Amino acid sequence: MAILPIRIYGDPVLRKKAAPIGEITDEIRKFVDDMAVTMFDAPGIGLAAPQVGKSVRLFIVDPHLGESESDTQEFVAFINPVLREKSDDRVLIEEGCLSLPDIRADVERPRTLTVDFTDLHGERHTAEVGGMLARVIQHENDHLDGILFVDRINPVRRRLLGKQLKQLSRSQKKNRVAA
Ligand code: ZN
Repeated sequence: MAILPIRIYGDPVLRKKAAPIGEITDEIRKFVDDMAVTMFDAPGIGLAAPQVGKSVRLFIVDPHLGESESDTQEFVAFINPVLREKSDDRVLIEEGCLSLPDIRADVERPRTLTVDFTDLHGERHTAEVGGMLARVIQHENDHLDGILFVDRINPVRRRLLGKQLKQLSRSQKKNRVAA
């Protein structure tokens, strides 16, 4: 298992619409293991495939949301997820993102929703989620459509973040040239 480099704001892969996953191969399963190691190392509570450079419809979530009592690092993989039945009731929660280091902002999103997804064994599941889990799932699912949480914040706040975002994007480009 390997820690994968996390793509930073300004990297074009973060803006692409990710492709659905067909068969769940050993290669995908190995990639998911690498994603999990990367997420727990960061540390983060969710990670989407485009954030490590692979534009496919897959993300993982730490079901303990960073507060596991044990040392076992469990995660749930959501393959080809579909979000539906989003509640009209919306809630404002502060978000951050591993691809946008040091930036946090309040984002308004539906409080609850239903998610259909395929697991690593190829089985389809449906889950009704709320609370922080619903929040993380919506944030990660956005990554599959090339959407970042800063796209969803209050325009005034976004303007205030403008300089910071430009700096991130610039440092990202510099790193890419160097790499
Ligand atoms: Zn993110």
